[in-house]
Amino acid sequence: MRTVKDVIRHDRATCSTAGVRGLSMQIIQEMNRLIPGGVLVGIDDLNITGDSASVNFFLQPQAKAALARSIQRQGGTLAINSCFRTVVQQHVLFSWQGSSCVTIAATPGRSNHEDGYAIDTPDFAAWRQALEAEGWDWFGPGDDVHFTYIGGGVRDDIGGIGLKAFQTLWNRHNPTDLIDVDGRYGEETAARLDRSPADGFLVTDGSPTPTPAPTEPAPIIEPSATAPSRILKLVSPPMRGDDVKAVQQLLADEGLLSQAPDALGIDGVYGNATAQAVRIFQLHEGLSVDGQVGPNTLKALQEKALPTPAPQPPPVQPSLPDGSIRRVELQKGDGMGAWQHLRDDVEVLQTTLQNWGVLPDDAPVDGQFGSATEAAVQSFQRLRPADPNRSRFVPTGLAITGVVDRNTWAELLKVHPAAIGMENRTPETAPGIPNGFPDLATLLDKARIPEAIRPFAEQNLPLILAQCLRDGVTNRKQMAYVFATAEHESHFGRFMIELASGDDYENRSDLGNNQPGDGRRFKGRGFVQITGRINYSNWSKRLGIDLIGKPELASRPDIAAQILVQGMRDGSFTGLKLDDFVGNDFVSARKIINGLDRAQQIANIATAYAEALKA
Ligand SMILES: [Zn+2]
Repeated sequence: MRTVKDVIRHDRATCSTAGVRGLSMQIIQEMNRLIPGGVLVGIDDLNITGDSASVNFFLQPQAKAALARSIQRQGGTLAINSCFRTVVQQHVLFSWQGSSCVTIAATPGRSNHEDGYAIDTPDFAAWRQALEAEGWDWFGPGDDVHFTYIGGGVRDDIGGIGLKAFQTLWNRHNPTDLIDVDGRYGEETAARLDRSPADGFLVTDGSPTPTPAPTEPAPIIEPSATAPSRILKLVSPPMRGDDVKAVQQLLADEGLLSQAPDALGIDGVYGNATAQAVRIFQLHEGLSVDGQVGPNTLKALQEKALPTPAPQPPPVQPSLPDGSIRRVELQKGDGMGAWQHLRDDVEVLQTTLQNWGVLPDDAPVDGQFGSATEAAVQSFQRLRPADPNRSRFVPTGLAITGVVDRNTWAELLKVHPAAIGMENRTPETAPGIPNGFPDLATLLDKARIPEAIRPFAEQNLPLILAQCLRDGVTNRKQMAYVFATAEHESHFGRFMIELASGDDYENRSDLGNNQPGDGRRFKGRGFVQITGRINYSNWSKRLGIDLIGKPELASRPDIAAQILVQGMRDGSFTGLKLDDFVGNDFVSARKIINGLDRAQQIANIATAYAEALKA
């Protein structure tokens, strides 16, 4: 028996899903049982061409009518590579993502090919105008063969029904391995798709289900009686109208949009804020997340507006020992300024918020708890009211504070609050000063450090000292000059990020800034600031971390300490290095960093540290 997995492994070179046609046809038959009356119609009667072994020529009636008008408008034959897809075809294509034949593919159950209102045509350039004129939306360069029908009057739940059809079919043929019929593509369902026979399950008499001939009438034939309404989505110019307003009111009732009739609230315009609110709603309701309001999403929104049904039984709590998950209470400002030590915790938070869909995927995960992170926390808290159906782990609901307390962590991590042990927010004790050196207070007193800088030195000097020892900078005069440089350049970490915007560095070829935004992205960071794409790239290679993808790491004290010490040791900043001066000449040593600006002033600081470092 050839399984779907075999097709995935061996048929990629052909780029064709013809190998799963038998199973596809069984799924369509099963969909017929689940959708009385049917919703898809055959399009073989139109002037189209394509490989009938892999393409199912069905669409929803409104989409078919629009396609017929496009063909009439253009004249000639339209080549179609993909039309209605079954979940098993989508599963195969999804597995082939990133290969030469499939650049991107939606998660099975979520492609609008599975809903029956999308087509792919290799002749997109020639046909684009005629298709767009009749309500077919071109996807764009990311998937240039793809057109979606956006003229309305179609259902968007067919893909989910396809998944249910497969799950039902699997269960009928595998009574000892039953899976949930939930219309979702999870690991369980994906694994069963892999193991299913590509030619279809054997019927009771032992022979495979005969494969219907491609010319056979469409298995799902009658249009749905559902009243057509347009699909609301983000387009330019934006959609407007009372239907948009009604949806916004429902979203506002869910706490996902402001009640105020302004740009971010109920204004009847389907803009970014509305689309983002829809995405969050869809994510929480287990719907396909596309930011569009079709019949399915609309129905779910309307159902939410009805009185709450009887509560579900309490959730099964994961059996985690009390306090086993260690977390810190987080709030705005954390990971920034004096609270840089919380950056890792904030990064975890930001990633979790992205997974919940309340922080946009393109928001930076930078470990800095700013306004965007706070807004995302508040959105999440609004989605967890005092309702045991919606706040499963904290039935009394979350307070909308923007502060990530124990209860908020519990709902974020889907565990009982008792499983979370709250940790102290105060900074970890700085690494100690090793034996053989004066203690920190004495050292800073002797160096006559300015009071404004002292707290930063208390945190970062031991770190830099440890880095010196690790990197073989053991000559105390050299250490003294490293400290003096950190103090002069960044006040020992008080200014880890250049204050200017970085725009002045835009297009600076000497810095390697060759892409838009490089100036800002690669502005100065660190105890001794590095600037520009070239320097960030060089340090990425040397330290084995991705400073191009995450330039903000260069301001993390541990990483900045490596750049400071290794850069001065090796002459990375100007070509001159610590050993060139062997600690004799603090004035000339300035050439390690720069010209001779402020050289005497820094030499005086270094002299004080050199005195202080004498054991
Ligand atoms: Zn497509």
